[in-house]
Amino acid sequence: MTTFARFETMGDTKYGIVEGDNISEISGSPLGSYSRTGNSHPVSGVRLLPPVSPSKIVAIGLNYRSHLGDKPGPKVPEPFLKASTAVIGNGDNIVIPKVAIDEGVKIQPEAELALVIGKECKGATESTALDYVFAYTCGNDVSARDWQNNDLQWTRAKSSDTFGPVGPWMTTDLDPTNIQVVCRVNGEEKQNQNTSDLLHPVTRIIEYVSSVITLNAGDVIMTGTPGTPGDIHPGDIVEIELSGVGILKNPVVAES
Ligand code: MG
Repeated sequence: MTTFARFETMGDTKYGIVEGDNISEISGSPLGSYSRTGNSHPVSGVRLLPPVSPSKIVAIGLNYRSHLGDKPGPKVPEPFLKASTAVIGNGDNIVIPKVAIDEGVKIQPEAELALVIGKECKGATESTALDYVFAYTCGNDVSARDWQNNDLQWTRAKSSDTFGPVGPWMTTDLDPTNIQVVCRVNGEEKQNQNTSDLLHPVTRIIEYVSSVITLNAGDVIMTGTPGTPGDIHPGDIVEIELSGVGILKNPVVAES
């Protein structure tokens, strides 16, 4: 199990291996070949960036019984896309768009297990799917609920700028069928469920998506959210915690 962080220090973007309170800098890329440079940085002394810069985020809707209400579970994974421009890292602000504030649109976080794809993937099967997963990270599928319900497409609801927090880093070699997914808003727990309850498991998601869409190295798959996360407002602090990974923390602000 190895935890890789992407971070900014002195204006440079670097990767490193997280070891306790320090990051051991590497050259190269965790997804390719790398070596340790010998430099070390305290985690508290750097700005953590999203652990990858995905060409796309594929997200799965309606993938926990507890999130479905009265609706029947979908027979297949239900993918949609989130724009790469929505991605932010740990500590970055979730910015509620001015138009959403003006319209009184309900905004909700969604705690999700996020997968980082390690190499180009097309036509994976359930038995080969995990060969393409490099690591796991905390995902927050921030959603503008009224736009999700009323727009023809989910684009504004799911892809507004800053609606894709991921991080704080990524961890390899976890068991994706047994990760606890938690959301807290201002310290109060809103979601808490295990990925063993996913209706369509990670392997089935990768098979289904990659039958028609090429997944690139660094792409992110968000696997769905449990329960009912509640609303967030400017001034709130959202934390997404995954067992074995860590805590992704983002303040909520209004677009000025
Ligand atoms: Mg979601």
